[in-house]
Amino acid sequence: MYLVFLGAPGAGKGTQAAVISKRLSLAHIASGDLFREAVEKGTELGKKVKGYMEKGVLVPDEVTIQLVSERLDGQDCREGCIFDGFPRTLAQAEALDRMLAARGKALDRVVYIEVPEAELLKRLGGRWVCRKCQTPYHEVTSPPKVAGICDRCGGELYQRPDDKVETVKERLKVYFDQTMPLLDYYQARGKLVRVDGQRSIEDVAEAIISAVKK
Ligand code: AMP
Repeated sequence: MYLVFLGAPGAGKGTQAAVISKRLSLAHIASGDLFREAVEKGTELGKKVKGYMEKGVLVPDEVTIQLVSERLDGQDCREGCIFDGFPRTLAQAEALDRMLAARGKALDRVVYIEVPEAELLKRLGGRWVCRKCQTPYHEVTSPPKVAGICDRCGGELYQRPDDKVETVKERLKVYFDQTMPLLDYYQARGKLVRVDGQRSIEDVAEAIISAVKK
């Protein structure tokens, strides 16, 4: 099964993709995580994308599409995967259709996780992420058992530099301008399912599972 998780920064795409990929035995492709890894390692790709990420704007489509396409060739993606944070533009959505078709596959469902803007700002403000496994936490709503340490792998938690207030605002603007039009694209193709993202992690996960199995 090939799924896209669509939603604003802070909607819970990463959290849900981690839960659902385990439950449904699907690979998890998070473009943002792939870029952050490249930046941390200081690779050529990392050097290319660092500036865009710091500003909260999108990395150019060619770079992003190439990265995701290479990742999709991983053995773990043969039976399906969840795309988290990709596609974010119409050009990326069209490229995704083509890259799946070239492999004899097609997208099954696009899950839109809906969360109001005021709630997104609150969530992104208190977000901490594991440096090693990328599990996200929130100071108030889902704190780790020990401050600064990941419950899952013991890794160090840090605040993403692009979670600063000004950058968050830019990322939300980019989302509303460039990614929201994808809702119409997938609605027109009969792929879109909407899930209320303002409930507990477990409830949202259950809603997603029943929506994609329909
Ligand atoms: P995320 O972790 O998904 O919030 O992504 C963090 C940053 O990585 C974004 O603000 C963009 O700069 C970049 N990025 C991640 N995914 C994409 C994408 N599909 N297209 C363009 N840029 C992306």
